[in-house]
Amino acid sequence: MSRLAALQGGRLVLASHNPGKLREFRQLLAPLEVTLRGAGELDLPEPEETGTSFAGNARIKALAAARASGLPALADDSGLAAYGLDGAPGIHSARWAGPEKDFAAAMRRLREELVTRFGGFERADRRAAFVCALCLAWPDGELREFEGRVEGEIVWPPRGEGGFGYDPVFVPEGESRSFAEMQPAEKDALSHRARAVAALLAAAEADPPGS
Ligand code: IMP
Repeated sequence: MSRLAALQGGRLVLASHNPGKLREFRQLLAPLEVTLRGAGELDLPEPEETGTSFAGNARIKALAAARASGLPALADDSGLAAYGLDGAPGIHSARWAGPEKDFAAAMRRLREELVTRFGGFERADRRAAFVCALCLAWPDGELREFEGRVEGEIVWPPRGEGGFGYDPVFVPEGESRSFAEMQPAEKDALSHRARAVAALLAAAEADPPGS
């Protein structure tokens, strides 16, 4: 049986110390019927995220958790990539908000950098995507990687009270409302994280037992 299919019914570590993420992934991974343990619960160290891409950081976190726990581990890394800013803030999405997690300031910076580069917000290339890289790693170093993305546009001023992070300035393609104006279930149905997990589940399903 392939290692991906063999996860079914077994134990899996989520390489994150964030309890909110653990809850979200437990729900998203329900079809896989795994027992998901957080890196925090297992007291695993947090590696430095020195990668230069979402996938690179997910790989670092998944491998560190798999090696430290001796179990298969899943990690994600996500953020907002603005096309007009060569993919910024990208892997620095959380860092733009600083230690205070001031996303109002991070969103102002996003607008200001577009205005500076293009000489005005209306003239700027406002296309952007939320990206989520997922990496599954085994203790011997084997990896499986997946990506989910949702394309859209940066808007100003920020709209809506829901969501988190950059949600108020992101309108997904085909929609007129920002992520922060949607009900959580509506955002979840479109989100980059849900799409990345869907790719993982599809691969697990497609892996024939015995492969
Ligand atoms: P991480 O993958 O948990 O490190 O998240 C990185 C950062 O990306 C978050 O702190 C947010 O700034 C941003 N981000 C990731 N996903 C979303 C989202 O769905 N909405 C808004 N911001 C997000």
